[in-house]
Amino acid sequence: GKGIAVLTSGGDSQGMNAATRAVVRVGIYLGCKVYFIKEGYQGLVDGGDNIVEASWSSVSGIIHKGGTVIGSARCKDFTTRPGRISGAQNLVDRGITNLVVIGGDGSLTGANIFRQEWPGILDELLAQKKITEEQRGKYGHLNICGMVGSIDNDFCGTDMTIGTDSALHRIIDCVDAIVSTAYSHQRTFILEVMGRHCGYLAIVGGLTTEADFVFIPENPPLPDWPQRLCDKLGQEREAGQRLNIIIVAEGAIDRNGDPISAEKIKQVVVDNLHQDTRITVLGHVQRGGSPSAFDRVLGCRMGAEAVMALMEATVESPAYVVSLDGNQAIRLPLMACVEKTKAVAKAMEEKQWDLAVQLRGRS
Ligand code: ATP
Repeated sequence: GKGIAVLTSGGDSQGMNAATRAVVRVGIYLGCKVYFIKEGYQGLVDGGDNIVEASWSSVSGIIHKGGTVIGSARCKDFTTRPGRISGAQNLVDRGITNLVVIGGDGSLTGANIFRQEWPGILDELLAQKKITEEQRGKYGHLNICGMVGSIDNDFCGTDMTIGTDSALHRIIDCVDAIVSTAYSHQRTFILEVMGRHCGYLAIVGGLTTEADFVFIPENPPLPDWPQRLCDKLGQEREAGQRLNIIIVAEGAIDRNGDPISAEKIKQVVVDNLHQDTRITVLGHVQRGGSPSAFDRVLGCRMGAEAVMALMEATVESPAYVVSLDGNQAIRLPLMACVEKTKAVAKAMEEKQWDLAVQLRGRS
């Protein structure tokens, strides 16, 4: 059977285990030998006990767990060619020429570079007699399939990244809890949610909890935002509302590109409205805990599709990323999606806000 390996890289997210489980089981079902690579690219570079064959039962009882049971890491070694050469040796030694990477755009970019370098690296290993002629011939091409695990929903090409829905559930639970105490004391709460470059969690969190004001990175408010914020909060109180909720993405900025922090917003509210104002930073709570039904199903579907994509790949196929489009699991060329994702970041850097919002599109 063909050798497939799966690794998780970058920040963890709920639903990664469902994806890993699906890769293992669909792979085994199709007669492949499936391997876990533990601790992300570090495990790939280090090899040894980090790369172990998976069995049907080794993924039992993980679908309901948050995080990633095979571990994730950021890995400096893999960003260097010697690191990737070591990774290739570890894969060839085990007959693995199919790699599933579950991570963010950085992880997928790394996977694509690895794939492009693969033939050259194998030539190098052959010249150094670290692999045989036969291995060079048999394992000459590396197939890659990515899927995006991230709570931020910050990847262009998929409607939802794995983990976003669970993070939203966590945010909603927190806001609901805070609303009840805010009501009792007539307080204003500023909640900071994750999203360094993407305001999805803030927007949808705000929408689903009746927040009064939301700050996101892609579409910074006009310079008179302090005035408009205070007008809005004041209006709500006059209309009889006993509390105010403001949601701010951690990467929120103004039109100069300067951060709009929870602290800064609090100052504006306190100075102008003299409201009893508190800040809650949700932090890693958003990334932890059990995955929602949606993320479990999403992980299952993406994992299954990733294995199918690898099995059907030819030398001509591009590196794929599997995505959700409408209610369909689809394959897209990985680098085109990474480039679009980077174009959003560039538009934001260049303060082209309309373009950033437009490029972000559905995700
Ligand atoms: P997150 O969205 O959680 O930040 P990410 O996958 O974008 O996830 P990164 O820290 O950018 O997170 O990348 C994770 C790992 O992928 C890096 O530590 C590195 O090992 C590898 N990687 C990232 N970019 C590259 C690259 N250009 N070349 C080789 N490897 C890379």
